[in-house]
Amino acid sequence: MKSHVRVAVIGGGVVGCSVLYHLTKLGWKDVLLIERSELTSGSTWHAAGGFHTLNADTNMAALQGYTIRLYKELEEISGQSCGLHHVGGLTLATTPDRMDFLKQERAKHRYMGLETELVGPEEIAKLSPITNTEGVIGALYDPLDGHLDPSGTTHAYARAARLQGAEISLRNPVLELNPQSDGTWQVVTQEGTLTAEHVVNAGGLWARELGAMAGVFLPLHPMEHQYLVTEDIPEVYERGSELPHVMDPAGESYLRQEGRGLVIGIYEQACDPWAVDGTPWDFGHELLPDQLDRIAEPLEYAFSRYPCLGRAGIKRVINGPFTFAPDGNPLVGPVPGLKNYWSACGVMAGFSQGGGVGLSLAEWMVEGEPSRDVYAMDVARFGDWVTRAYTRNKVVENYQRRFSVSYPNEELPAGRPLDTTPVYPLWKARNAVFGQGFGLEHVNYIAPEGKEPYEVPSFRRSNAFETVAEECRAVREAVGINEIHNFGKYLVSGPGAEAWLDRIMAGRLPRQGRITLTPMLSPKGKIIGDFTVTRLAPERFQLTASFGAQAYHQRWFEMNLPGDGSVEIENVSLRRIGFQIAGPKARDLLARVTRADISHAGLPFMAAKEMEVGLCDALVQRVTYTGDLGYEIYVPAEQQIALFETLTEAGEEFGLRPFGMRAMMSLRLEKSFGSWMAEFKPDYLPAETGIDRFVSYDKAADFIGKAAALEERAKGPARRICSFAVEALDADVAGYEPIWHGGEVVGFVTSGGYAHHSKTSVALGFLPVELIEEGREVEIEILGERRPARLFTKPLFDPDNQRMRS
Ligand SMILES: Cc1cc2nc3c(=O)[nH]c(=O)nc-3n(C[C@H](O)[C@H](O)[C@H](O)COP(=O)(O)OP(=O)(O)OC[C@H]3O[C@@H](n4cnc5c(N)ncnc54)[C@H](O)[C@@H]3O)c2cc1C
Repeated sequence: MKSHVRVAVIGGGVVGCSVLYHLTKLGWKDVLLIERSELTSGSTWHAAGGFHTLNADTNMAALQGYTIRLYKELEEISGQSCGLHHVGGLTLATTPDRMDFLKQERAKHRYMGLETELVGPEEIAKLSPITNTEGVIGALYDPLDGHLDPSGTTHAYARAARLQGAEISLRNPVLELNPQSDGTWQVVTQEGTLTAEHVVNAGGLWARELGAMAGVFLPLHPMEHQYLVTEDIPEVYERGSELPHVMDPAGESYLRQEGRGLVIGIYEQACDPWAVDGTPWDFGHELLPDQLDRIAEPLEYAFSRYPCLGRAGIKRVINGPFTFAPDGNPLVGPVPGLKNYWSACGVMAGFSQGGGVGLSLAEWMVEGEPSRDVYAMDVARFGDWVTRAYTRNKVVENYQRRFSVSYPNEELPAGRPLDTTPVYPLWKARNAVFGQGFGLEHVNYIAPEGKEPYEVPSFRRSNAFETVAEECRAVREAVGINEIHNFGKYLVSGPGAEAWLDRIMAGRLPRQGRITLTPMLSPKGKIIGDFTVTRLAPERFQLTASFGAQAYHQRWFEMNLPGDGSVEIENVSLRRIGFQIAGPKARDLLARVTRADISHAGLPFMAAKEMEVGLCDALVQRVTYTGDLGYEIYVPAEQQIALFETLTEAGEEFGLRPFGMRAMMSLRLEKSFGSWMAEFKPDYLPAETGIDRFVSYDKAADFIGKAAALEERAKGPARRICSFAVEALDADVAGYEPIWHGGEVVGFVTSGGYAHHSKTSVALGFLPVELIEEGREVEIEILGERRPARLFTKPLFDPDNQRMRS
């Protein structure tokens, strides 16, 4: 074994081998894979080998498409068969909601270029005659679905990597990982010690243990999973061609042909987390004991869906463990808080996702960033707040919901509440309906007295519609109050603070007492942050951005800190909290509780001031995402209740009413304000989103992403985000709906909803620049129906910003 390598990939499952292959493909040849036992010694050898493109996240779906298309290339390079069976797959719908879900998925596939189609019961029976279509409304057919040989595929990756220069060390457990002061890792293995410039944790079932060796907790947990292989079945082997896969969500099962029989796998409700206290090191190529009683009920259901299955004998039962992250997506990328330690774990569908995970991670390591946005699988989408029990609870929930419909307004119950602010019990007493983001509870809306505080998950307008309308009305006509705890907040200080911020942010920095908005860009000019910057003192700034992006942003800050101690960053997200008040009476209310001059001259738009508010010493910023006259009032967390009481008592006379995130997102729509991870995300460049108006292209500082941003501006974007008024029926857009013009899909929706004050269903989305003009008529596909929509260029509310700046 070598004593020094550029990269040590730990784990020879399908994921580790894919990472190894992609590193060599991108030109890093000095790479070594270290495997405890033989290749495929973790989850990989158990797998049923199915692959598919369906994923709620479009980038994940695209990476799954990449994985599936890769197998041919892999076979050619390696000369090793992957045992591919491209048989296509059907996902059945037995309820109108499931059908809506499939329609929505189909719509997304249109602009992604995936050739899926919706089929009716007759077509289903033709494609899969063993399926009893009783009660089936329709199905989504995906010709890319299929299955392969898990072992052959893993060896094909490994052989292709070897042919391109990689080395593989088998039967050699990694025992210790020790970080060195120069950023490299000392990797202690059974066969000796080596130095690796980078370490990749592709430990699959043992990824938690490999994380612990480096001192980090990776939020994933293994679950037991069973599938059955049947004896030969005449209805199967007498056909001339192979049967397609059938996913039957109502029965929580997937089914495919295996030789002359069938394989059926079940995601049962009575599921079991495996190895709660850690994966035993001596676990290997053995199966877990059958748990047939756990799947008896879904099996019974499957016998009615596939009558020939009920007559078949069972040849083999496979019960094996594999890992999930709390939201079911992989954990990929640089692990926050560590140098040169990369995660490639939590991959629950290695044969659909392994190629995309390998490609993205290799691009990240070799080129500095992945070519497409991988936030949905970025390990930094979780933070220090994640506990082991939260992970376990969410993983169980995710397993149980493997075949559930996902609704755009759904808030899942497991692992809650975890983080709350002091005012949480007061909201609860007022009948609040909560959402959770990055572990923290936030108010979505306050349900009317006497009504259950629960928003019914739906693709259509929900039971919250009227209440949210009233909350919006209170803001536009009087004054509303809403918590501002769910911003990520950072204090940046020190003699180097200004120069550092000027380099890391693409926009202009404010002068003292002022606020500016600025994007943060990657070297390729992609939008990786959307910040509000306040200068509190010459060398002291407050930054606010998305609460959910804290680990993501902090990782970027740390990677780019000067290293000479001249800049200090403090994350104060949960320590500095408070409220925003917004609406025409917001100033009157604030004036009632402070002695400071808050007249327009005393506190103009985009200014900030320290002042007394009630009993508290607060920082007040004149800015609000509602697009109205408004203020953000920050205090230490322990004074949040004092501030709340001050504002609510004084607010009574002005008609103060709480509003939640649902109202906030409605209000911002009528100002056409973009939002993080919808309009502003690492997939997009500044000029195409409109955030370029906050980029200071001509500032002296050579900010990160400047060259790319200038290039984009010089070329001019090919598409831009526009606003549309949609003639919607009872459903508004949720994101990623196709935009049609002249009978073709020309763009897609980034976000939208109902703008209550303007009584307009609004969509924001990309359109080619040549089509952009006021009043342009397009169609937007909502739940399978193309609805007329009209482009508008001036915000629906307060187009001249008189209210906001008043
Ligand atoms: C019953 C069952 C059915 C499934 N069906 C499908 C399916 O149809 N389609 C699909 O896509 N997926 C399926 N999966 C999931 C799939 O198996 C996993 O997504 C995939 O195998 C994960 O691969 P991995 O490389 O991340 O992890 P693993 O396969 O667990 O590999 C990790 C490797 O790391 C090695 N390792 C760990 N620690 C060390 C160490 N300290 N030193 C050296 N080496 C180490 C291990 O020995 C192991 O070989 C199924 C899983 C199960 C259990």
